Amino acid sequence: MMQTVKLYHQDSYQTKFQAIVEDKYDDQGRHALILNQTCFYPLSGGQLSDKGTIEGIPVIAVEEREERIVHYLEREIAAGIGELVSGEIDWHQRLDHMQQHTGQHILSGVLMEFWQRETQSFHMGDDICTLDILAMPFDEPEMKEIERQANQIIYENRVIRHYFSKNKLELRTDRFKEKQEKLEKLRIIDIENFDCSACGGTHCRQTGEVGIIKILGWENRKEKIRISFLCGYRALGDYQEKHRILKNISQFFTTGIEQVEEKIRQLSMEEKGLTKSYQKMERKINEWESEDLKKNNRRAEKGIFLIEKIFPEQKVQNLNQITMLLTREEKTVTILGSEEPEPAICLACSADLSYNLKEILNQLLSEFTGKGGGSDFLVLAKLEKKEDIKKACQRAAELFN
Ligand SMILES: [Zn+2]
Repeated sequence: MMQTVKLYHQDSYQTKFQAIVEDKYDDQGRHALILNQTCFYPLSGGQLSDKGTIEGIPVIAVEEREERIVHYLEREIAAGIGELVSGEIDWHQRLDHMQQHTGQHILSGVLMEFWQRETQSFHMGDDICTLDILAMPFDEPEMKEIERQANQIIYENRVIRHYFSKNKLELRTDRFKEKQEKLEKLRIIDIENFDCSACGGTHCRQTGEVGIIKILGWENRKEKIRISFLCGYRALGDYQEKHRILKNISQFFTTGIEQVEEKIRQLSMEEKGLTKSYQKMERKINEWESEDLKKNNRRAEKGIFLIEKIFPEQKVQNLNQITMLLTREEKTVTILGSEEPEPAICLACSADLSYNLKEILNQLLSEFTGKGGGSDFLVLAKLEKKEDIKKACQRAAELFN
């Protein structure tokens, strides 16, 4: 069979086309369609495939198999082999892909021309684009300069030509050369007096159409750097969204956008200080609480001391800390419970007693729903129902007998 005529290579701005059905078949439940020619770009070379319709049927995926373009349709097409059909690609999405892809050529060109860093691979995602370069790490001012240089190429509005060449040109990017070598002819994307590389994707006619290139970040990986970026309308959308967020934050703090960063830094510092003094106070209160328990809630029973209390409200962390303080007492068993904010029970015995706390805990957990754990001297369980706390504390006291 003949290879599919790739209309997108001739004119990436063509959105509508007519073609003859060459083959259609069921490909593992997918409705595959092959035409003599197509505007639909397949998933390849880091670029996403086009979306659109053929005879009004949505095209879900487009793939390339041995020089033939396979369209996967949402449902089977009525037209038979040899019949004429018409198709239309989603222009909005195509333009987006052209902007991202052309932007990548510009960025790769800048990295090669001004920084001698070669692009290894490019990936266009639904949200962001990334390219990998072999490199020594860049710092922030360098990245800012790279971004500026790339945008300068855009604003110079250079003409981008594409042609097939049999000459092995001195290409700056080798990415698609290998793959295309078997075609004998290389498809060259030539940005006026700037960058020349072999590529099979769809591109803009002039660099100005890319609009803007925004570098979002870069990761210094083992032997390469992965740069993430956005171009054109994607970059505009990103700016609009980030500006909206920043504006809302500045309104929330009733401060200018320029002061937001400093304001958050201040608040974060304050918060750290407050947390520290709050924890200090809590510890102090826990100490008082344990003293109070020793004085008012301790009773002697069969040669040991028992301290019991149920708090209507006490944080689990504090319950644990108060119990811990009480394990220092001689011959003392402590049973503390708390109903809010989380129903919990904490049991402890001093080091001079030899109860098997874990066994007691397991017994409680077999009678009341909850989870727990601990050491030989202190165990803690969070129960599901606060109504169980009183009963569990009573039961624990029985088990210590
Ligand atoms: Zn390209």
